[in-house]
Amino acid sequence: MKPFEKYPNECEQMIEACRRLHDRNMLAAGDGNISLRVQDGILITPSGRPKAFIEPHEIALITLDNQILYGDPSGERLMHLHVYKSCEKAISVVHAHPPHAIAWSVAYPDMRELPNNCLSEVVLAAGRIPIAPYARPGTGQMGAVLDLCLPDYRLIVLSRHGGLSWGESLEEAYMGMERLEHSAEILYKAKTLNGLSFLEEEEMQALRKIRIQLGDKTR
Ligand SMILES: [Zn+2]
Repeated sequence: MKPFEKYPNECEQMIEACRRLHDRNMLAAGDGNISLRVQDGILITPSGRPKAFIEPHEIALITLDNQILYGDPSGERLMHLHVYKSCEKAISVVHAHPPHAIAWSVAYPDMRELPNNCLSEVVLAAGRIPIAPYARPGTGQMGAVLDLCLPDYRLIVLSRHGGLSWGESLEEAYMGMERLEHSAEILYKAKTLNGLSFLEEEEMQALRKIRIQLGDKTR
């Protein structure tokens, strides 16, 4: 049985998430890819196609050790597989090209995380949003730079390239990408308006305590 016949709902959910990312300007041309762990492998979006317009039969199926079981899987699948191998809780991975998040990594090449002490939501929803150093897309280099952030962080900016979000469901991974880009956009606008201002350390400590109580999931 083909993956879109065996997993029709999952394939539809992946396509819906692609459309939402495209609507929010986080996917251009053939950018981005989404994967979802299922019983017999990893469903993943196809290589090169404009993701907002793919159909269920184009969703590929691969194994954790990169065997292709069906279709023409994304060229960035090694990055997805690295996340599943590094994070036992990972059920879904969303990779997109969120413009404001990427812009921070271009403007500040030495910055290793988005400013985390300006917005309460960054602390409460994600803890921190690290920026992984540059690695060439589609290569094994990506695994090494991701290791600096995994499994502790679920939202990661990929320097000069994109964003990565993983979660215990497709919805969590998708919402993480929204959170990452929304935070990056607010910080960008504040910086442009008058520069960043910061929460007091005492308030940061209180927020971090709440985050620990809330747990590791992205909100
Ligand atoms: Zn990419």
